[in-house]
Amino acid sequence: MDYLLTEKGKLDLEAILKGRSLYAFDFDGTLAKIVREHHAARLSRPIRFWLEKLATRAPTAIISGRSVEDLRSRVGTTVPHLIGNHGSEGPHTRQEDIQQVRETSSGWLELITGRFQDELTRSGVVVENKSYSLSFHYRTVDQRDEARALITRIIAELSPPPRIVLGKSVVNVMPPTASHKGTALLEYMRRLDCSTALYVGDDETDEDVFALRDHRILTVRVGKKKGSAARYFLKRQTEITEMLRLLVEVGDQSIHTWSGCHEHGATRPVPHPNE
Ligand SMILES: [Mg+2]
Repeated sequence: MDYLLTEKGKLDLEAILKGRSLYAFDFDGTLAKIVREHHAARLSRPIRFWLEKLATRAPTAIISGRSVEDLRSRVGTTVPHLIGNHGSEGPHTRQEDIQQVRETSSGWLELITGRFQDELTRSGVVVENKSYSLSFHYRTVDQRDEARALITRIIAELSPPPRIVLGKSVVNVMPPTASHKGTALLEYMRRLDCSTALYVGDDETDEDVFALRDHRILTVRVGKKKGSAARYFLKRQTEITEMLRLLVEVGDQSIHTWSGCHEHGATRPVPHPNE
């Protein structure tokens, strides 16, 4: 894992800028600062500014654990492609697959509320119903070991057995057939006809993209971490601003940039005189 904001990292970003690329980002901890209250997360003014500029030039997406509706309330129309529920919610998934995922998730919720609601209430663990997946939140719980033991006991009862992704004070359970962030990114590259991509994330669910180890995807993790499969890292979340600014400014200086992106509603910002 190398630091992105170096000459070497900038050369790799430039290579992405020269291709027909998709720019995709996680939301919490990546575009938005992690906050104690889950509902208070938002884009800072500089990040919104540069993200908006990037999105008018090239295909841009957010792939988050939040629902699409939740994302839209925070991002508005800044970014055109919003993918929710860790990659399983969006126009890229087939109706019948979505239906199956929803049914599995609601079946789990029924079992959980029927058999474990009292214990959950006593422990302070909150189950968030995201329609396509469930999340057990325990950020505000004091007895964390007991909370985790209860969550483990509940998950063992779920059928079919879920795909489990651990986050920061949250355990996410997803139907085994649901797409994850890696499959969602690949599907969007195909749909938007992009041969390369940049993906930036900070958490366990983002490892589903990093672990693809696909040479066409430049992967960046917010925060250096041993064992992460990401190619590069940023030291802190606020460095996202610098990365976005670099992409826009370096991209605007090169005549090769933003090629093939105009069909997505983007225009070439600096037309070359010979074009
Ligand atoms: Mg995150």
